[in-house]
Amino acid sequence: MNRIFSGMQPTHQLHLGNYLGALRNWVALQKDYECIFCVVDMHAITIDHRPEVLRENIREVTAAYIAAGIDPEKNILFNQSAVPGHAELNWVFACHTPLGWLNRMTQFKEKAGKHRENAVLGLYAYPVLMAADILLYKATHVPVGEDQKQHLELARDIGGAFNRYYEREFFPLPEPQILGEATRVMSLRDGTKKMSKSDESDYSRINLTDDPDTIALKIRKAKTDPEPLPETVEELEKRPEADNLVTIMAALTGRARKDVLAEHAGSQFSGFKGALVDVAVATLGPITAEMNRLLGDKAEIDRILKRGAERAGAIAEETMNEVKDIVGLLRP
Ligand code: ATP
Ligand code: MG
Repeated sequence: MNRIFSGMQPTHQLHLGNYLGALRNWVALQKDYECIFCVVDMHAITIDHRPEVLRENIREVTAAYIAAGIDPEKNILFNQSAVPGHAELNWVFACHTPLGWLNRMTQFKEKAGKHRENAVLGLYAYPVLMAADILLYKATHVPVGEDQKQHLELARDIGGAFNRYYEREFFPLPEPQILGEATRVMSLRDGTKKMSKSDESDYSRINLTDDPDTIALKIRKAKTDPEPLPETVEELEKRPEADNLVTIMAALTGRARKDVLAEHAGSQFSGFKGALVDVAVATLGPITAEMNRLLGDKAEIDRILKRGAERAGAIAEETMNEVKDIVGLLRP
């Protein structure tokens, strides 16, 4: 049986990278797979946060999923902390994960910054909880952006370590699904850094909640070089900021980069940015409007999450009962 699990952290509002790298693919995949989509709120407390803001972000991310086209009836949609199995399986996995594996994780190094001794254990152990999120549901496929590839490989290693230790094929080894033209959207301010919710500069990203004027301003201010658009993808790839804007255009219009270049080669970026603003506003505008409509009824969002948590919780409980029996924990 194929089952999809994926999630996003409610660390801020979602951005264009989250949409093109993951959320848009989820919408397409829900037709063919049994899908579980999670708002991973326990991951969001691995960095500084304000409780009242986090609570609102959880609802906003939920609204963004639905506004983008995720059907909360067909799929299971819930927030992570509402199902205790995530924390329970996290602990079991923590007891089967060598520190050496975690020491290789590049996201921890980036997020911990220079003062690594002050970084919290939760940030270091983040990929273990992520492995638990996925395997609690015995998911076989995980649609994510390129940046999560290393964590997905670790999830496979942890599942494999569990299976080997207890001598059975209990957990499937989940496959990453890194799909589409924009698997790694870069910051609008720095073509070598990925677009992130946690980037300090709001000008580095286009949020799904940005209005058309803000989208236009951010794209106009986006860093570029003075050269016109090149003829070939090979030349484009030597220019990170230019490549990023062409990639975004390609993804938004459902084309390959070479087809975008065929249309725009030789144009100045000032003109190209105008075309990009039009396409971005046309794609994101309806999603933003629907998100705002949904957020007008927070009680309904909470009801959707509660119902999702009940459905997810039933699967999780079954897995955890089996895990406890396998590990030798007593269920009196
Ligand atoms: P944070 O900075 O808090 O880590 P984030 O922007 O990296 O936020 P996540 O919640 O960590 O977002 O990731 C949610 C999903 O979006 C994941 O599947 C991730 O791979 C994908 N994703 C995140 N950033 C990008 C990006 N710049 N381009 C493509 N996909 C992305
Ligand atoms: Mg991230």
